[in-house]
Amino acid sequence: MNQDEITRFEEAGRIGKKALENALSLIEPGATLASVAEQTEKFIRDSGAIPAFPLNLSVDNEAAHYTPFPGDRKTFRTGDLVKVDIGAQINGYPSDNAATIEVGHTGRYSALIDASREALNAALKVVRPMVPINEIGKAIAGKIIEFGFKPVRNLGGHGIGRFDLHSAVFIPNYDDGNGKLLKPDIVIAIEPFASTGTGMIHNGPPGNIYILSGTRNVPGEPIFDHFGTLPFAERWLGGIVNQTGDYLKKMMKERKVSVFPVLKEHRGSMISQAEHTIMILGDRVKVLTQ
Ligand code: MN
Ligand code: MN
Repeated sequence: MNQDEITRFEEAGRIGKKALENALSLIEPGATLASVAEQTEKFIRDSGAIPAFPLNLSVDNEAAHYTPFPGDRKTFRTGDLVKVDIGAQINGYPSDNAATIEVGHTGRYSALIDASREALNAALKVVRPMVPINEIGKAIAGKIIEFGFKPVRNLGGHGIGRFDLHSAVFIPNYDDGNGKLLKPDIVIAIEPFASTGTGMIHNGPPGNIYILSGTRNVPGEPIFDHFGTLPFAERWLGGIVNQTGDYLKKMMKERKVSVFPVLKEHRGSMISQAEHTIMILGDRVKVLTQ
């Protein structure tokens, strides 16, 4: 990484962190998810960056990938367990961070919230250049199990590159036996999820987060020119294309765009998440979102 890339990642991390704090401060009983998303994404733009992906507001047994659809009237209710996940990008360099909040602070899920946050802290203690990657997962799972919950095994952290939110490296939330060493000069996200259920999530119905598909990106395509290969929401397409719903349907039929399903645990189970973006440079580890 050159100094220019480092500076952009750091700035994306700084703004992403503030955006997360901003979103958490807006969540209260009766507030609409749409207003929290719009205000948080505007906060990022006003800070001189672009949202790296739509604000995720995933409730209760939803682990990830719920963002409001256009005209969404859904509101927060006291006792909702909300995973708030957001990042900023500068010139394509993204950050990614998340925290969990209980609406109305009734304290019913404090231990579950602490479990994923403390698991992230445990991971930060072991992450270093050339650590075997499964050691990170082992630290995460150990802490979550100590709290009496299950780590989600089929979600995990990931490498982060320019215009690439999920690059090659996978950071498991348990000891998956992958003894490969974590190479320096990378940016990664670590994101433990703690569950009261089985620790396995599945694809729910399609959400409202979209991404251009693989090799079919065409410069000149309006969404490519605006978002590159980072995720976007239908809410963001106003003023870019006409008839956003029809446009997305057509793009999906042509396999130029795909939609992220909302990721869920089984009904009645609860999930918490915590996430930071981390830069590993030479022998230095720097958390960019704290
Ligand atoms: Mn995230
Ligand atoms: Mn992530």
